Amino acid sequence: MRVVIIGGGMAGRRLAELLPPDDVTVLGDEPSYNRGRLTEYVAGRAEVARGNEPSAAAVAVDRRRQVVTDAEGRQYAYDRLVFATGAVPVVPEGVGPAAGIRTLRSADDAEAIVAEAAQVRRAVVLGGGVLGVETACALRERGVAVTLVELGLELAVKSGVLVGLIVDGESTGSLTVTLEWERDRHTTDRHTTAADHA
Ligand SMILES: Cc1cc2nc3c(=O)[nH]c(=O)nc-3n(C[C@H](O)[C@H](O)[C@H](O)COP(=O)(O)OP(=O)(O)OC[C@H]3O[C@@H](n4cnc5c(N)ncnc54)[C@H](O)[C@@H]3O)c2cc1C
Repeated sequence: MRVVIIGGGMAGRRLAELLPPDDVTVLGDEPSYNRGRLTEYVAGRAEVARGNEPSAAAVAVDRRRQVVTDAEGRQYAYDRLVFATGAVPVVPEGVGPAAGIRTLRSADDAEAIVAEAAQVRRAVVLGGGVLGVETACALRERGVAVTLVELGLELAVKSGVLVGLIVDGESTGSLTVTLEWERDRHTTDRHTTAADHA
């Protein structure tokens, strides 16, 4: 049985490992790398090791003929087709694309953020989930002053110290936290010095 998997991220490659190799084709539009290390890379604490797999971006599926076509016009016949195409970052309506605005999903994104971090003094990080907090801290490690903006109480769940700040203040609305973080220290709790509710 011929299986074509569109998407060479964690799910696509893991599935491919579980199937007989001769039956599987993985179409990935970027090389393999460990996405989970990208914020460490932004912090300057890790490298991004990319695989050298051939790139193939699927652009069309003919379900009647059971064929996938990639951006180069190559065709891949399948008996079973798997979409493992991941997710895209949520960008608030009306924001970007514009110079100075970045999302962080891919290795290319991370490299662009590192390059721009060397040119700027201030950054605003939208999103106070794990990735937002990690990215804010990573940019601080690069000497960039960071304001972290979170709509809701996500930070309360992710970071114990911020629970106190939120409970002390009004507990609804968006939260803005300014991180004042000394470069040589590695925890957010002792260095989060200002919070206000917008
Ligand atoms: C910066 C960052 C750090 C993270 N850190 C962690 C962590 O530490 N721990 C953790 O558990 N999770 C982490 N995550 C979440 C984790 O990366 C995702 O849960 C996981 O990558 C999802 O795997 P996936 O295979 O579904 O999607 P993805 O890994 O996004 O892979 C989908 C792939 O499909 C490709 N693709 C899309 N469309 C096409 C097409 N038409 N043709 C060909 N290819 C296509 C995409 O380019 C991508 O390479 C992190 C996410 C990010 C963005």
